[in-house]
Amino acid sequence: MSKIKTSLLRNVIIPFGDLIFGQKMMRRINFLEEAQYWPLEKINERRARDLQALIQTAYSEVPIYHQSMNQVGVQPGDINTLDDISKLPIITKEILRAGYPKQTTRSTGRKVYQASTSGSTGKNFYVMEDNLTAGWYRASFILSLEWAGWEIGEPHLQLGMTINRSLERQLKDLFFGCQYVSAYQLDDEHLSTMLDIIDQHQIKYIMGYPGSLYFLAKYAIEQGWNQPLRSIVTWGDTLYPHYRETITKAFSTKVFDTYGCAEGIQISAQCAHGNYHIHTLDTIVEFLDDNGNPVPPGETGNIVLTRLHPGPMPFIRYQLGDLGVPSTDDCCSCGRTFPTMNSIQGRNADVVLTPSGNRLIVHFFTGILEHFCEINSFQVVQQNEETINILIVPNDHISDDRLDEIRFALQTRGADDMNICFNIVDQIPLPSSGKHRFVINKTVE
Ligand SMILES: [Zn+2]
Repeated sequence: MSKIKTSLLRNVIIPFGDLIFGQKMMRRINFLEEAQYWPLEKINERRARDLQALIQTAYSEVPIYHQSMNQVGVQPGDINTLDDISKLPIITKEILRAGYPKQTTRSTGRKVYQASTSGSTGKNFYVMEDNLTAGWYRASFILSLEWAGWEIGEPHLQLGMTINRSLERQLKDLFFGCQYVSAYQLDDEHLSTMLDIIDQHQIKYIMGYPGSLYFLAKYAIEQGWNQPLRSIVTWGDTLYPHYRETITKAFSTKVFDTYGCAEGIQISAQCAHGNYHIHTLDTIVEFLDDNGNPVPPGETGNIVLTRLHPGPMPFIRYQLGDLGVPSTDDCCSCGRTFPTMNSIQGRNADVVLTPSGNRLIVHFFTGILEHFCEINSFQVVQQNEETINILIVPNDHISDDRLDEIRFALQTRGADDMNICFNIVDQIPLPSSGKHRFVINKTVE
């Protein structure tokens, strides 16, 4: 049955959806499934061609790249090989924020929409996208899920943040075999419901934020629930070693971590051998020191991304704000030729614990606060058992009514028994690590 369903999805339903939404996702999935085993030379030829086209487009249509290339005296014709990318200037989030949208976007002749992200610096950041771009990164995301053994349409439980599912998403859930539950309702009652759903629907895959899955796994162990699953896929936060250990133990299976960013770029994901393969046909990933030079394999560097698909808002040598380590060994016995990276660092996940026992992960706060455009950056501090203090740096001004709306949104979506105070500040102090923390739980520090 599942084979027939998968084939129907791949050959009829998804191509039909692609036609309606202008995504070309299935075509891209088919391409990537084959290309992941190409010889590296063939992969790199393709990337170099895509890079040339990207630079040409960005130079002629996106003012910020036109100006920055002129400033360093580089013309599109100077970018021929993948190594030539080092001639281009590095673009930071601050530069893109300041120039958005006029200086940083282009017309693709398609309908565009704005996506917001809290990014890794805690400041809201807007990105412009169209359906073709979404189809492009969703294809790589599905490829990551396939690396975890999942096939399109197989039943799975997803812990996510978009609880009010639109009709389009509900249809997608239905076709893709997705049982969608809140990643924010992590009290024992909801965790028990999740285990019931797994039983009822004979689910073999669970996907979501490591922080949420960790609490589900702990609860499953406490309850003596021990049905083996096929695999677990995580995204969005750091998968700490103790998270991985507990999840593996609870569900008697491997955890496949994926790494992407909210700017619409899939960066890497784990194969069954545990290596993080870079989605190298999507993105050029560089690991650079603070002077912009590549770090040697095995050493930590700033992650700088070039998305090979231009879309309405090209990303060329974009410094993400995350740290990563290039791999010392590029060969993986799974047979995929996509290069690997060692580890992902610099994202932190702290948790607020509510008096009734709910656990609020970083994504709970970023997922709600990023929709308030008055917020420049924020930090949540749990002072004591029932109080959180939210430091907010406003863009200009934020009214008391809007603060009430934020409080209401947080309380109705999981923090119903917390006192929520706000503190409007000029800036949020950075810790000595230099890495912004979204959530600090002082009751455990
Ligand atoms: Zn591999």
